[in-house]
Amino acid sequence: MKAALKNNTTKAKGRNFIYPKKPSGKLYTYRKWVSYVLLLLLFACPFIKFNGEQLVLLNFIERKFVFFGLIFTPQDFYLFALAMLIFIIFIVCFTVILGRLWCGWACPQTIFMEMVFRRIEYWIEGDANQQKKLDAQEWDTTKVLKKGSKHFLFLLISFGIANTFLAYLIGSDTLYKIITEPVSEHVTGFLSIWLFTFIFYGVFAYVREVVCTVICPYGRLQGVLLDNQSLIVAYNEQRGEPRGHLQRNVLNAEKGDCIDCGLCVQVCPTGIDIRKGTQLECVNCTACIDSCNEVMLKINRPSNLIGFYNQDFIQHQKPFKLSFKAYGYAAVLVVVLFVFSSLIYKRQDVETTVLRASGTLYQTRNDGTVSNLYNAELINKTNKAIKFQFKSQNPEDQIEFIQVPTVLPKEGTVHLTFFLVKKAASIKKYKTDVVFEVKANNQIISTTTTTFFSQP
Ligand code: SF4
Ligand code: SF4
Repeated sequence: MKAALKNNTTKAKGRNFIYPKKPSGKLYTYRKWVSYVLLLLLFACPFIKFNGEQLVLLNFIERKFVFFGLIFTPQDFYLFALAMLIFIIFIVCFTVILGRLWCGWACPQTIFMEMVFRRIEYWIEGDANQQKKLDAQEWDTTKVLKKGSKHFLFLLISFGIANTFLAYLIGSDTLYKIITEPVSEHVTGFLSIWLFTFIFYGVFAYVREVVCTVICPYGRLQGVLLDNQSLIVAYNEQRGEPRGHLQRNVLNAEKGDCIDCGLCVQVCPTGIDIRKGTQLECVNCTACIDSCNEVMLKINRPSNLIGFYNQDFIQHQKPFKLSFKAYGYAAVLVVVLFVFSSLIYKRQDVETTVLRASGTLYQTRNDGTVSNLYNAELINKTNKAIKFQFKSQNPEDQIEFIQVPTVLPKEGTVHLTFFLVKKAASIKKYKTDVVFEVKANNQIISTTTTTFFSQP
């Protein structure tokens, strides 16, 4: 009986299925609110339009990425790579300071698992013990109804997640077409929706915490990133040990504060006992802090026997201070953020590349002028067509276009071939820098520099 109380797992087909007890408490309430905000953002972002584009788009297939109205094309890959680098450094820095708090409080896997799917399970099947009982019992009408309705809701939500996920990948407009137009016109899209639906369903109905404890590489990195100053969910063994059950009329003076009730283990969604020390499986969900605090309140002991502690505090009572590692990562983060912001600031809506045509050098003309032949490529990174003029910055220069397109299609490319003609008398050296401007509405929207060759 004691073992059943302390353990929230049941062995089935080689896997320990975890039945965490329904958590409650101050931190759980905060987590709920954080998750509502994050879920709202997650579901809303691909359906909100800003500057004619959805707020966030990660279209890897067409290599188009949109963040808050800014369109990033393959030419901006360096910016995308830098943004990914910032995200990784941020997570590393965050982990060094606050342990795996991201996993428990902000990771979509945990939020969906603990705040959506698990709560549906509690609602339909009851708390951990009732769930265990239901799983162990023979199939009858009640079990069929409960299991059926639970899995139907799981599938429905997985369908919603799959659609949202695809909206991020292919765009909400394309998704709308897949949903509203005949299936025969969008067979791949239709199959993708169902494939992702079943993947999400499988993850949240069966794989569950294995994603965090075995599959996710971030959990494995934890051991490398954490140090004795990192704040993590930890059991204060100096205070808790020697643990022992509360006994009526027996003096507990020689015992620690842990009454070995097992509640912290029962609520743990990854099935671990935090009293055994820092473990890879701990996702810092803080459910054990809440449950232990409830116990401490009942037995009139100070709260936070399990709490946010750094190892130096637990072992040597040293207060929390940022480690050198944390300062180092924070400094790198600031530098990369600065570089990224300046690149974004300098980024032009139209990217222009001008190259001298291969196999040509310069042409001397009978009218006392010299010309060079160029190829130019103009890429429009906006979702609006742009009427433009292409000029040299030097007003004395003449441009003779082979073909004269004047409109840059939205998110499109225009190729120009042209001669740049200069007066021979104005040439002072063999290699001269030339600056070209692209103008729209009398404003310079892009500039580029190349060289002009001629004998002086
Ligand atoms: S909940 Fe607190 S008192 Fe109960 S076993 Fe865990 S650490 Fe000990
Ligand atoms: S040990 Fe505590 S914080 Fe860690 S996963 Fe389990 S319940 Fe969450």
